[in-house]
Amino acid sequence: MTEKHIQSAPVILWFRFDLRLHDHAGVRAALETGQPILPLYIWDENPATRPLGAASKWWLHHSLEALYADLQKHGSRLTIERGNTHIILASIAKEYKAKTIYCSHTFDPENERNDAELTDELRSAGITLHRINNTLLTAPGALQTQGGTPFRVFTPFYKSLLASGACDIDTLPDLTTMPWPRPSQWPASLAVADLGLKPGLTPSGQDWAQGFNRFKPGEAGARGALRHFLKNNLQAYDSERDRPDLDATSHLSPHLRFGEISPQRILHETARAAEADNRLAAAADKFRAELAWREFSYGLLAQQPSLYNINFRRDFDRFEWRHDEKQFRDWCRGETGYELVDAGMRELWQTGYMHNRVRMVAASFLIKHLLIDWRRGEQWFWDCLLDADPANNPASWQWVAGSGADAAPYFRVFNPITQAEKFDPNGEYRARYIQGYTHTSTGRNHSKKAAELFDKANNSPKYPQPVVDHVFARDRALQAYKNRIVDEDQE
Ligand code: FAD
Repeated sequence: MTEKHIQSAPVILWFRFDLRLHDHAGVRAALETGQPILPLYIWDENPATRPLGAASKWWLHHSLEALYADLQKHGSRLTIERGNTHIILASIAKEYKAKTIYCSHTFDPENERNDAELTDELRSAGITLHRINNTLLTAPGALQTQGGTPFRVFTPFYKSLLASGACDIDTLPDLTTMPWPRPSQWPASLAVADLGLKPGLTPSGQDWAQGFNRFKPGEAGARGALRHFLKNNLQAYDSERDRPDLDATSHLSPHLRFGEISPQRILHETARAAEADNRLAAAADKFRAELAWREFSYGLLAQQPSLYNINFRRDFDRFEWRHDEKQFRDWCRGETGYELVDAGMRELWQTGYMHNRVRMVAASFLIKHLLIDWRRGEQWFWDCLLDADPANNPASWQWVAGSGADAAPYFRVFNPITQAEKFDPNGEYRARYIQGYTHTSTGRNHSKKAAELFDKANNSPKYPQPVVDHVFARDRALQAYKNRIVDEDQE
């Protein structure tokens, strides 16, 4: 690094949902310029974009702190600003005479629209905004069906993804030894805490986020989670990933959401683990397919930018949802009287996470047993999940509802009792989240193992009675779905 470089105008490295320093094409491009680098984060509560949920804000707070510390290790610094992105970017670029800004695509259509305007505005001020894909294996829409249309069915999409070579990651450049030239002066910056992202105490004075600490936001936490998974859990991933009572999945979802690790890094490390031990091959293939669902969801989001509030299949628009505030609240609180649903909803509230199998059962229960609009459940998950994702969350909800592309068929109504028996055979998962109740059920809506979960003490509160009978609810759901289809056929 020469004195000339240090004194030249900086390039701006604008972070968003790409909060990492490695395997990041924008970081690499900025380092390769040899110019000083000005890392920047802007907290912009733009009313035209969907506000982050409360759990996501908690994650963002800690992830920014981690990025701040990681940059400091390179002698660099994260400048944190709050306000209108257009104004802040233009004014910092002007003040520092920066002509180049690097950032990553978020592939969230609301941001992408905004980015297009921003690019034009900055260009007219002589500044180039380079947006780079640091989020996905392939940009949405890059792969198409033979008919030249976007994919709506997962299996052919996945075949095409594999054939494209995007999953074969031979090497990843090592950026650790490259110098981080500093600007001659740093801009004034807010502290992460000034953004007010951490939730306050609950009305009863408790720290809602205390149970989130099983996760370690930040790039080092993401790498640690991947290492832990490959070493301990990949081997049985294909056979045990549906078991919520076991620690069998990667827990990488919030790290991926905030871009703390790239999907390329995950695939690369997984392939290396499978090369070293060929017993891991089948599990590695399954894990790769799950990561591909994330890619597929982003493809659906590109096709329906309002995926969180518009049915992908518009024929669902006339579905007559029930409005039952009490039952919705029971579901949110984990008081439906169905153990697996209740355990899942409590896991969500207490830890900011819910196991995938239980997400499917809990979502199906809201939509099909209670006939409550999937959008309400999606919003609750959006607020409470640490990994709340603009593509995965609505795409998964619509998959369960049947309104999505390649969705679960309408007659698939998850049975919360048999699902519990099959996937939580010893009741351990349920016991973890449902404690201290007296068992009052007749047994019809509970699994055989249930009695073990409940406190025999007479002063324990009674476990809620089922909010709806399973057989009745199943028949009602099938009828409601059939009616909708019959209505359409008659038109
Ligand atoms: P692993 O099994 O270790 O999978 C590895 C990665 O693959 C995940 O981190 C994720 O990025 C991806 N993945 C796995 N399963 C899916 C899937 N079915 N669809 C899309 N990507 C997948 N995932 C989110 O990341 N954010 C969400 O907001 C979200 N909301 C969901 C809502 C519902 C109703 C349902 C049924 C699923 C939802 N999922 C969501 C998908 C899935 O439940 C989570 O990705 C998974 O549980 C995360 O745990 P993990 O990282 O240990 O997964």
